[in-house]
Amino acid sequence: MVESKKENQNISLPLSERETNSHSEVTNYGEVVACDFCNYGEETYGGVLIGSYAICGDCCDKNHYDKPNYEYSNEVDVIFDKDKTFRDNVLNYRYKTTGSKDAIQIITGF
Ligand SMILES: [Zn+2]
Repeated sequence: MVESKKENQNISLPLSERETNSHSEVTNYGEVVACDFCNYGEETYGGVLIGSYAICGDCCDKNHYDKPNYEYSNEVDVIFDKDKTFRDNVLNYRYKTTGSKDAIQIITGF
């Protein structure tokens, strides 16, 4: 009886060990917004989201990402509100999708 109890404990061990051994680096960048193309653009208006890239209003104006006749418009995931700044749009989008306006990067290694 005692032995089988011990066995059960051992079965549950590997999982918790894995959890404590995995090493996560969490970096919180806070409410930082930068265009993934030009690294600026916080105060421009509008912007788009293409995949994981947030692109500011200026870059959209130059490359027409936010235009319906843009060659690859099917790759554009979100066209942000042009009445709001790129910064506001990205923060709102972040809040809607993650529940936080902070840019949090989690790098998990083992
Ligand atoms: Zn830009």
